[in-house]
This record gives sequence, C-alpha cells and structure tokens, in this order.
Amino acid sequence: MGDAVNKTERDVVIIGSGPAGLTAAVYAARANLSPLLIEGASAGGQLMITTDVDNFPGFPEGVQGPDLILQMRQQAERFDTDFLTGDVTEVDLSQRPFRIVVDDETTYHAKTLIICSGARAKLLGLPAESKMMGNGVSACATCDGFFFREKEVFVVGGGDTAVEEAIFLTRFASKVTLIHRRDTLRASKILQDRALAHPKMDFLWDTTVKDITADESGRVAGLVLENLKTGEISKPKADGIFIAIGHSPNTALFKGQLQLDDAAYIVTKAKSTLTSVPGVFAAGDVQDTYYRQAITAAGTGCMAAIDVEKFLEEEGV
Ligand code: NAP
Repeated sequence: MGDAVNKTERDVVIIGSGPAGLTAAVYAARANLSPLLIEGASAGGQLMITTDVDNFPGFPEGVQGPDLILQMRQQAERFDTDFLTGDVTEVDLSQRPFRIVVDDETTYHAKTLIICSGARAKLLGLPAESKMMGNGVSACATCDGFFFREKEVFVVGGGDTAVEEAIFLTRFASKVTLIHRRDTLRASKILQDRALAHPKMDFLWDTTVKDITADESGRVAGLVLENLKTGEISKPKADGIFIAIGHSPNTALFKGQLQLDDAAYIVTKAKSTLTSVPGVFAAGDVQDTYYRQAITAAGTGCMAAIDVEKFLEEEGV
C-alpha cells in the first residue's frame, strides 16, 4: 500500500473489490481520478468462493474465481488505484463531500462514491443452522468441501449456486443430495444436465429442511425434512449441509440514506448507475436483482466510473 492511500480528500471512493469495484477502479484510474478502493476485510467478493468460471469472456479454458479477481486487481494496480483493506463502518451521504469511515477510525471525504458492496449468502433461518455453522453447516462449498471427504452431504437450493456447489462437493463427498423446495431446478440447463447425470448425486424434490440435528459433540448428525406435497417427515443421517439459497445485498450502511427496493437492493436509474443521491453510484450485485453475473457486475462497474467522470466534468472538476 503506497502513501497515497493516506490522502483523505478524494475525487472518487469505491467501496467493494469484486468485479464491479475492480472494473470501476480500472476505468476511474485511467480517467486520472486516482480512485481509492476500500476492499473490505474479506476482499474479492463472491468470486473468491467460486471455483470454475467458464462464462467470463477471454478465458477459453475457464478460470478459477480467485484467479480472475487477482488478475483484475493487478490490472487496477497497474494504473493509479489506491487500495485500502478495511471495512466501511459508517457513511454520511447527507452532504458533499460524502463522509466515509473505515474500521471506525479513518475518515475519508469523497466528491463521488461508487458502491460495489455486493451481496452475501442467505441462510434458512433455523436456530440449529447458525449454531452449527462451521460444525457441519456451511454456506460455501469451495471453502469447506475439503472437510467432507467420503462423507454424506446435502445441499439446499435449486439455483446455479446450489447445483454448482453440489457438483463441486462430489469431488470429496461419497454422496451429495440436493434438497429443493420445488420439483424443477432454476439452475442453467448445462449445470442441471451435469448434476442429474452425476453418479454421486441424488435429489429430494418438493422438500424443505425443518431442522438440523447434532451429535453429542455439537456436529451435524442428521436432518429433519418435510415433503411439501405429502407432508411426510423424514430424518436422514447427514455429515454436512450446505445452504445455497441465494443472496442478500450488503446495504445496511445505506439504509435511510439511499433509495432501496423491497429486498434492500440499491435502486439505480434505468440504463445508468445513478442512485437517488447525486454523486453516489452503484454497480454490481448490490443493485442487480436480475443478471447477477461476474461479467454484468464488471460491466456496471465500468458504467459507474464513466458516470462519475461525466458527473465531475459537469461540475468542472
Ligand atoms: P437463485 O438463482 O436466487 O436461487 C436460489 C435457490 O434457492 C432457488 O432455487 C430457490 O428456490 C431456493 N430458495 C430460496 N429461498 C429458499 C428457502 N428459504 N428455502 C429453500 N430454498 C430456497 O440464487 P443463486 O443460485 O445463488 O444464483 C444467484 C445468481 O448468480 C443467479 O443469477 C445465477 O445465475 C448466478 N450464478 C451463476 C453461476 C454460473 O454461471 N456459474 C454460478 C452461481 C450463481 P425456487 O427455485 O423455488 O425459488
């Protein structure tokens, strides 16, 4: 980290270091705006917990999520981006320059702000789930799959994440059962085909998790499941359960300061990254309830930097 990161008055501050934030940094830096990118204690966003990314253009053989982030970061570093590792603990968007506090101690002032704080995994909301998190319950197969060698695991969800995680887990587990609340998957056809044909995979349709049971050491030992069509309760043994039921946006800091939608995603004006506060822009998953891809996050990150450039130009900066 260079000394430049100590400069607390900035033309543009970027919050978040996934593909949206890093792309915004590349574009803002190349527009001579010397952006400060605050990358959060767990930097890199959701690609850091993704394995094979086969749909990001420019990587004909595919790329691992963390490698893709590393390459984007190196590209942003090649230009004039200052990186700061820390969590934004407070923002004040009521007047400009905006006030941004990092780790409760350092305050930055920014003429413009690009929010790329992303989204995080949702949980089922069962008391047992948070109690046994890390003890057989996980929301990240790529982080924890290794610990389930030759074990029987379950994955909850029917989207791309659930199916991708389930396929990934077959590398370790002896059996992977996908539990889905409906009888058709939401995941892309190619992932569905791969999962449905996989010899280690099994499927429980129209099923929800009512409870997770523990052994005497507090580790996951079994599940209580309900078939939503028949009402039948089953209690399979389980070594682990992975929750993959979607995401919530990281917008708690902006509540009451920016317009958010019913699911707490930042509302942006059509075909732009403009938010309800002039000078504040949002890109990536924090404002996207529909596409939610690495490539669309990167695309909106680019848009945000261009929007900032135009905004500052109009102000004569
Ligand atoms: P998602 O598409 O929103 O799917 C969430 C899944 O969880 C759905 O099947 C949903 O069921 C189920 N679900 C939600 N709440 C539930 C609850 N309380 N109990 C039980 N099940 C519940 O989320 P995602 O799979 O995380 O994907 C998010 C986005 O990222 C998508 O746009 C996806 O395409 C993208 N993505 C892409 C890739 C890739 O291309 N390689 C990989 C991962 C993610 P219903 O189907 O009944 O609603």
